Amino acid sequence: MRLSAENEVMRLDALHRLELLDTPSSEAFNRITRMAAQIFGLPIAAVSLTDRDRQWFKSRVGGDHCSIPRERAPCTQVAETTDFLAIPDLLADPYYADSVLAGQGIRFYCGASLVTREGQGLGALCVLGTEPRETSAEEVAALKDLAAMVMQQIELQHAFGRIDPLSGLPNRTQFLEDLDDDAQERPGERRLAVLVDLAPPEQLSRGLRVLGPGFIDAMVRQATPLIRSALKPNRVYHVASTQFAAIIQNLSDEEHYRAKLEESLQGRFADAALRPIASLAVGMFPLVLGETASADVLRVAYGAALDARASKALVSVHSAMSDDIHRRSYRLLADFADALTAPDQLTMALQPRIDLRTGECLSAEALLRWDHPELGGISPAEFIPIVEQSPLARAMTDWVLDHSLGLLSAFRSAGFNGRFSVNISGSNLSEHDLAARVSYCLSKHQLSPDDLELEVTESAAISENGSGAEQLAALAAAGFHIAIDDFGTGYSSLSYLQTIPADTIKLDRSFISDLEGNPRRNRLVRSMIGLFSEQGYRVVAEGVETTAVADTLREMGCHEAQGYGLARPMKPGRMLEWLSARHASSQSESSAPQLIAGWGPFQPN
Ligand code: C2E
Ligand code: MG
Ligand code: MG
Repeated sequence: MRLSAENEVMRLDALHRLELLDTPSSEAFNRITRMAAQIFGLPIAAVSLTDRDRQWFKSRVGGDHCSIPRERAPCTQVAETTDFLAIPDLLADPYYADSVLAGQGIRFYCGASLVTREGQGLGALCVLGTEPRETSAEEVAALKDLAAMVMQQIELQHAFGRIDPLSGLPNRTQFLEDLDDDAQERPGERRLAVLVDLAPPEQLSRGLRVLGPGFIDAMVRQATPLIRSALKPNRVYHVASTQFAAIIQNLSDEEHYRAKLEESLQGRFADAALRPIASLAVGMFPLVLGETASADVLRVAYGAALDARASKALVSVHSAMSDDIHRRSYRLLADFADALTAPDQLTMALQPRIDLRTGECLSAEALLRWDHPELGGISPAEFIPIVEQSPLARAMTDWVLDHSLGLLSAFRSAGFNGRFSVNISGSNLSEHDLAARVSYCLSKHQLSPDDLELEVTESAAISENGSGAEQLAALAAAGFHIAIDDFGTGYSSLSYLQTIPADTIKLDRSFISDLEGNPRRNRLVRSMIGLFSEQGYRVVAEGVETTAVADTLREMGCHEAQGYGLARPMKPGRMLEWLSARHASSQSESSAPQLIAGWGPFQPN
């Protein structure tokens, strides 16, 4: 019985929608196929799906082919009729005697149909033998049961937790399982993993606020067909809310898919509201099957997508070097959580700030130091930017405040009357209880707001959502001094600067180095000092490495200086000795205070 053309279209549609064809063989199906071969005591069994012009084997034991032509294949009859079929001897059957199977020496065929709930026949679970043979009633019943189990497996994969309801694409679980199956079957082969990320998290949260929760759905709906068509014929997976992935068989196709993705994705969002939000990035990762854990494939490809976004390219191919960097960042972040509670890994160093007019040490900047148990000393320039972008930023700042203020309290007892400066991360400014926490910490150490200066970088103060300015206003209202750190490295306008309640500006050290040899820079620094002084700011120069630069800055009217040429960051005990030595030398000198060997407001008890 042949199906009508219309019914055949519906049958094929049901089969294609399951997205099973040309997927890697999977252990879930192989288990059933092996059992069928065992029950019949035959060498060949298969889960065979009836496509437009072929029988394609989702799973098989024995036999050399992944598919055979549909023409005169017994499984086709099973798919079309949805009836059980046993052919004791193919050569004795007038229709199948000259079929491909018979030509390959197959004599016995038995197939139970794979039927969907809607009654569409997808193919057969079949067993084949090279000798003519009869079938017992028990064998028929067992093969039907196993065929029902194949269907359950198909439905299970499709209905429960394997398909994303929004995009209709297989999800991350399916991606990982397919990759594992592929690796098991073809270990050592090379593949290209592709990850498309629609937008970075901060853009998503802004979009959610402006456009409401439906906007991610709209974005995914628009992106899905574009990504599928760009990556055709590879299976596309929806691996996270706004991320899609695919595994490409041929590494040499990298350029082809790169061009396809650029062509179909660049600026293609039809909805004007989504266009500014969707900031697509594509990561590609060449891998060797079996060498990289499946879960790592997505992580590494996502890392490559982040690189693409950072470099403003649409597509970035993962390089081993960038992965080493990511791995190290990941490790540092994980280890920093332990460091916060370890007794001996984190310490504070103190770097004096010197009043250029009087030579006094009026304050010191507290700088965090990390002695990693295995990696040794890690530069703050490396670990702070990583921690700052993580939820640990809060705990780090609390640790720094507590330890710095504990030290200041001890320094007070030793006769130091100056102030400590503590660095605050940009992300701390979105913590609404920051001012309350700082106040609590001060009272814990019996200090007052006047004893503390908080340093924030220009870009942190000028955060996109304005929470920076709000928090700074709260901190200033609580009486803390605020300094703008690394001034000149951001892009703030002077008019914006006036809205920040800061009293000190720290000129970044990039302006200060080479002050002598560069007349333009010299003029720029002079006018910045003049301008800020006139506006009532206290101006501090960072990175003062020579006394000559300190002299020039003093002549320019700069108030304070900090740098290796005056004093390096030091351990607290060393700083107390340093203060003590300065005090002693100032007592013994009758001449006017000198910059380096000057005196400070340090009165040892
Ligand atoms: P920063 O706040 O601008 O700190 C000054 C940095 O310049 C320090 O580097 C200091 O050692 C270095 N420095 C001081 N004088 C000189 C000089 O004459 N020449 C040169 N080349 N460098 C000089 P450090 O300690 O490595 O800290 C780097 C950055 O890490 C800091 O820059 C700050 O942004 C951040 N940081 C350090 N400690 C903390 C902390 O406790 N919390 C937060 N949030 N950030 C911190
Ligand atoms: Mg600083
Ligand atoms: Mg600085």
